[in-house]
Amino acid sequence: MQFQKINHSYIVHVEKGEKVMQTLTNFCIEKGIHSAQISGIGAVRNIDIGAYDITNKDYIHRIFEEILELLSFQGNVAIKDGEPFLHAHITLGTHDMEVYGGHLFEMEVAAVGEFIIHDFQNKNTLRQYNDDIGLATLKLCNL
Ligand code: ZN
Repeated sequence: MQFQKINHSYIVHVEKGEKVMQTLTNFCIEKGIHSAQISGIGAVRNIDIGAYDITNKDYIHRIFEEILELLSFQGNVAIKDGEPFLHAHITLGTHDMEVYGGHLFEMEVAAVGEFIIHDFQNKNTLRQYNDDIGLATLKLCNL
């Protein structure tokens, strides 16, 4: 992983073979990034994505082992259980130019992973468990 800091933003190059969610989460912990917007592009493999089933309060999973284009990664960072937590959704493209997408659990960089993190420098963006939804949802306050 390589990075470059520009004001309160970072350009992060997650390299071939590295896990994206693990690398970006560790980066946020290391840099004290508690509230942020993350976007990215690249080419990835061993992708675990899903969709949330509100009735069963559980995720449906699908694994893609093949190399796919990471067309778009959109995510945010908030504090959950005292640690930076990433929530991200992705859009993937096949070599037939078909598109898949979902909630991202994890994926590995197959060629390049290029991400931009905008650090809002705020410690009050929180996630708390919401019993109705069955997930830790954003709990926002303005101090
Ligand atoms: Zn999601």
